[in-house]
Amino acid sequence: MTDSCATPGLLTLEQALEQMLSALAQPKHYERLPLKRALGRVIYQDVTSKINVPSFRNSSMDGYALRSLDHQEGSLNVIATSWAGDPYRGKINQGECVRIFTGGYVPDDSDCVVMQENVTRHDQSIQVNQWPKATENIRNIADDTNKGQTLLTKGRDLSAADIGLLASCGIADVAVFKQLSVGFFSTGDELIAIGSQAKLGQIYDSNRYTLHALLEQAGISPIDMGVIPDNADAVEAALISASKKCDVIITTGGVSVGEADFITDVLGKIGNINLWKIAIKPGKPFVFGSINNASFFGLPGNPVSVMVSFHNIVLPALKKLMGYSTSQPAITLQAIAGDTIIKQPGRMEFQRGFAENINGEMTVKPTGNQGSHILSSMVKANCFIVLEQNSSTIEKGQQVTIQLLNTHL
Ligand code: AMP
Ligand code: MG
Repeated sequence: MTDSCATPGLLTLEQALEQMLSALAQPKHYERLPLKRALGRVIYQDVTSKINVPSFRNSSMDGYALRSLDHQEGSLNVIATSWAGDPYRGKINQGECVRIFTGGYVPDDSDCVVMQENVTRHDQSIQVNQWPKATENIRNIADDTNKGQTLLTKGRDLSAADIGLLASCGIADVAVFKQLSVGFFSTGDELIAIGSQAKLGQIYDSNRYTLHALLEQAGISPIDMGVIPDNADAVEAALISASKKCDVIITTGGVSVGEADFITDVLGKIGNINLWKIAIKPGKPFVFGSINNASFFGLPGNPVSVMVSFHNIVLPALKKLMGYSTSQPAITLQAIAGDTIIKQPGRMEFQRGFAENINGEMTVKPTGNQGSHILSSMVKANCFIVLEQNSSTIEKGQQVTIQLLNTHL
C-alpha cells in the first residue's frame, strides 16, 4: 500500500478503519426472537439442527414407487397410495407398485419412483414405459441437512433463506444480538425543518432523512434526535444527554476546519475524540471516539460526504458493534469506463456512477457533477466508482473498480 502520510496527518481509509475497528468491542447482550421477528438480525451463537431434513425418504415427483428389480414385469398392480402427509406404510411385493405424490413417503421396499408421464395407466395397474434407475426421483434422508449439523454460524445476519432453513428444522426461535440504539443529530444554524419556509441563507435539513434511511437499510431502528445549533453549550448538553441513552451517536456537520466547527472542541472536553483527515473524496474530515459509553461518529455536513462516509467508514464500525463476525467489505466489481473519469492523485475517490451491461461488458459512467453537495447525481448512481488514492484521470475504455449501491448491506 502506498502511504498517504506524505501529506501529514492524512490517514488512508484502510488505516482509519483499522484503528476504529480495533477500538470497538463486539457486543455481549442477546435476546431470543421468534423467526418472524428475526429477519436481518445478527446471530448470537451457532445454530445446530436436532433433526435430519428430510427426516424420511420421499418422492420428488408425482408417479409410482417401485422396486427396480421388477423391471422385467410387464405391468405392475397399483396396491395403495402414499400421499404427502398420509403415508403408505405397508409392503410392496413383486409385481406391485404404489401411487405416490411429491413429498409422499417412499415405502421401505421401494428404491425408485417413476414419473407419471412415463407410464401408461390401466384401471388398477400400470405399464412402465421408461424404467427409472435405482434411487431415481427419491429424496434421501438428510439430503438437505444432518442432525447435529451447524446450520448457521454466529455473527451473520438472518436472510429469508436462513429463516426458512431454521423453520424446516423445526426451530422456532433464534438467539440474536440485542439491537444497537443509534441516535443521530444534524448540526448547523442554517438548517430548517421540512414544512417551514426557508429564509435567505437557510436550507432544509436533508442529512437527517438520508441518515435515517441509511440506518434503516442497515437493519437499525434509528433515534432521530433533531438539530443542534452551532453553539458550544447546546452541543455539549445534547451529546451528554444522548450518550446516556444510546450505544452510538452520529452527527453530521461541524467537523471541518471552519469558524463554527467547534464540535470537535466540545467533544474533546466531554469525550475521547479523534479528528481525522481521511484521504477520501468526498468525506475527508471525520470524528471518531466515545462519550461516556457511547461510540461517536462525526460525519461531514455535505450530503454526499455523509453517504460516502456512512458506507465506507460508519457501516463497518456499526457492523462490528451489531455483532457481525467479519466486517465484510462492500462487494466490488470490475467495469470498463464508458467515459473519461476525471481525477487528481492524492485522495481515494468514490465517484457516483451508473453501471450497466453494454454488449456483454459491465460499463460505468460518472453520473454528472461530483460536487459533495450534489445529491441529484447520487440519485442517478447505482454504484460508486472507486478510484485509488494515487490514480489520476481514467480514460474511456480503461478498467475501474465499482462498488454496487443498494445491494445487501
Ligand atoms: P459543515 O460540515 O457543517 O461545514 O457543512 C458543510 C455543508 O453541508 C454546508 O454547505 C452545510 O450547509 C451543508 N449541510 C450541513 N448539514 C446539513 C444537513 N443536515 N442537511 C443538508 N446540508 C447540510
Ligand atoms: Mg455546519
